[in-house]
Amino acid sequence: MLILERYKLTLDYLSKTIGEAETELHYKNPYELVVAVSLSAQCTDKRVNLTTPKLFEAFPNAEAMANSNSDVIFSYIKSISYPNNKAKNLLAMAKMLVNDFNSIVPSEVDELIKLAGVGRKTANVIASVIFNKPTMAVDTHVFRVSNRIGLTTNSKTPLQTEKQLIKYIPKDIIPRAHHWLILHGRYVCLARNPKCENCGLKVLCKYYAKQSNKKNVKQNTTIKQHGKKNSKKTSKKG
Ligand code: SF4
Repeated sequence: MLILERYKLTLDYLSKTIGEAETELHYKNPYELVVAVSLSAQCTDKRVNLTTPKLFEAFPNAEAMANSNSDVIFSYIKSISYPNNKAKNLLAMAKMLVNDFNSIVPSEVDELIKLAGVGRKTANVIASVIFNKPTMAVDTHVFRVSNRIGLTTNSKTPLQTEKQLIKYIPKDIIPRAHHWLILHGRYVCLARNPKCENCGLKVLCKYYAKQSNKKNVKQNTTIKQHGKKNSKKTSKKG
């Protein structure tokens, strides 16, 4: 199958089965999304959503957070993974937003990654979700799903996956495709036990084909072994 055909069939399927998709993080403005995405590193969106209402109530904007200190911020986010580091980064990020960006979240990835605690993945999410830019944030789901389906080849890093995906996905679809791949990975193509039998992509999925081949080889070997045993028994009797 040609790579473009693989992409087209995959995106058509995900578009039909998932449709409109958006981030599961709760936010009301760009500042809140930067905070929520930063908190979501190594943590579930669910947990972040349980934490942010009180945090945003205490710090409704970057100025309020910049005027606080990391101990106070920590007290609001202590149930989240790596709260110490995240509290320090949030404080530094808020100060940078106020001092260097006039309290306005920048729209370009190159600017966003200057903010404390904002890596390429976070910057891509913000650029895509808030500013509808054709950026592809590669998290663990996007990385795994793209590799299994065969949208990427020999990709060893998130950046390699990002580059391969944006090469073939039409620009206007990239922001939605990002969510489709995440949701497919979160609910169907699970890391440990992917639900292949319920997945319409198995007709083209490279991982599924590989697993099916392995199963067939195993079954054939077992059948052959049974055959040998039976023929030994028969020859003994004879
Ligand atoms: S067939 Fe299985 S491995 Fe392939 S995309 Fe679907 S769930 Fe994932």
